[in-house]
Amino acid sequence: MDFKDASKKLDGIEKEIKKIELSLWEKRKEVFAIPVDQISDLGDQWMSENTAYVMANERNQKVQKLKELYKNKKAILEFKFTKECSDCGILIEENRLKAVPSTTRCICCQEFHEETTLRDLAAA
Ligand SMILES: [Zn+2]
Repeated sequence: MDFKDASKKLDGIEKEIKKIELSLWEKRKEVFAIPVDQISDLGDQWMSENTAYVMANERNQKVQKLKELYKNKKAILEFKFTKECSDCGILIEENRLKAVPSTTRCICCQEFHEETTLRDLAAA
């Protein structure tokens, strides 16, 4: 996974989190929208309790999913991006990788590479 993949995955996770949070919020408004004095007889009462149970179950599942998403997000944020320099084999600095995800060389080798390329161009 490189930096680009990670940001794409993060975006997807963020969208899913927002969607679930929003639906949890909408459901909350629905539950509060039923006035208590409208629940007249036992049948209605059972219905509303049953509905509440189903809703609570649904809600638990969504909360569980949210927790999972948060965990995935954290894992991506804490993921160390490492890549070895194609010339000398040392690990390329993380800041350099974040700035130039497509890079294949460490700063030293890149500078050396650019210098020699320029010199070759000048000599040609
Ligand atoms: Zn290098």
